[in-house]
Amino acid sequence: MAWTVSLRKGDQVKVIAGRDKGKTGRVLSVDQDKRICTVEHVNLVKRHTRPNPAKQIKGGIVEREGRIHISNLMVVCPSCSKATRVRHQFLDDGSKMRACARCGATLGH
Ligand SMILES: [Zn+2]
Repeated sequence: MAWTVSLRKGDQVKVIAGRDKGKTGRVLSVDQDKRICTVEHVNLVKRHTRPNPAKQIKGGIVEREGRIHISNLMVVCPSCSKATRVRHQFLDDGSKMRACARCGATLGH
């Protein structure tokens, strides 16, 4: 699906499938090639870490954001506050801009 690559770091997104369905969060990172990203407070996984005094790392269980496929996410439009598909608009100068498919508000490049 063409719109799946239109997520950007910092976007507010809603999870539409999987264990954390219904949750919203901010995109922390996007891997455009693998179409995988991490979202704040979504898909948390527990990591067991060993203490490493040389690097001042304490051992224990740390919760970290796990990776989630972009197709499980929808962008939440900051203008109409709804989960939406993103469509692409071309500006007069030829540059591409993302826009909300519901209300038409631009969402940045
Ligand atoms: Zn909108």
